[in-house]
Amino acid sequence: MKKWLGYVFGAGLLLIVMSGCSSTETNKGNEEKINVTTTIGQIGDIVENIGKDHVQVDSLMGPGIDPHLYKASQGDINKLSNADIIFYNGLHLEGKMGEIFAKMKGEKPTYPVAEAIPEEKLLITQGSSKAVDPHVWFDIDLWKYAVLEVRDGLIEYDPDHKEDYEKNAEEYLEELTKLQEEAQSKLNEIPEESRVLVTAHDAFQYFGQAYGMEVKGLQGLSTDSEYGLRDVQNLVNVLADQNIKAVFIESSISERSINAVVEGARKKGHEVEIGGELFSDAMGEKGSPEGTYIGMYQHNIETIVEALK
Ligand code: ZN
Repeated sequence: MKKWLGYVFGAGLLLIVMSGCSSTETNKGNEEKINVTTTIGQIGDIVENIGKDHVQVDSLMGPGIDPHLYKASQGDINKLSNADIIFYNGLHLEGKMGEIFAKMKGEKPTYPVAEAIPEEKLLITQGSSKAVDPHVWFDIDLWKYAVLEVRDGLIEYDPDHKEDYEKNAEEYLEELTKLQEEAQSKLNEIPEESRVLVTAHDAFQYFGQAYGMEVKGLQGLSTDSEYGLRDVQNLVNVLADQNIKAVFIESSISERSINAVVEGARKKGHEVEIGGELFSDAMGEKGSPEGTYIGMYQHNIETIVEALK
């Protein structure tokens, strides 16, 4: 928050305290919150878990929003301009926002949290155009680097509360470890030959690598490429050849593409059903279990296990 705003805010608080007559605390006890803006909700959730009462978090991309295609509105640019700290994913997930982040970097602490992950742990697509897979939040081991980056960013900005951020991060990392163990044990219920995850776009490669599942997406790493009839046909062949029973839709992508695959398989005499909706690039509604990272992860695991076991 800008300094003069801080004064106005502080004066307001002082008035409230004085008129309330119930507190002898100085202004120090009523500090203003750090204004944090993030892109995807998964990152906003980290900031809330690490920053707790010290932060006010605003995530630009809500439920159902596709970060690959997302263009910042004037309102978003205002939020980013007014933020004290910005955390975004990076690795070109927010493909249309590169220029804005480059500009913000010159003005305030701006962190691409996924870029804190050691390069050798990142997945790179082979083929004509090399690209780094940005969907790192599906490998909990990798997402922990993002948690540490948020922790360090908050400490850098607000060293007075270093101990809080460290303690909160430690607790959150423990919860993530538990989540990972729980996910692995549930996924083990799926027979080995059925451990194939078919989705609309290629968001689950890290997930597949982490849990030993084969992953197929109709579209590539980003949703900005069109898929063609041949892509549909290829996927239909995989489904039939490997006798895969279920495919999954994603909350941030139109069902149309995956419906085309189901339809194509049916024409070939292979029945495939929609196994349910997965949260890939966006989380669920705020206030619902799927509106948190851990909740969305559990939802995905349950949906996958239910459909494939
Ligand atoms: Zn994606």
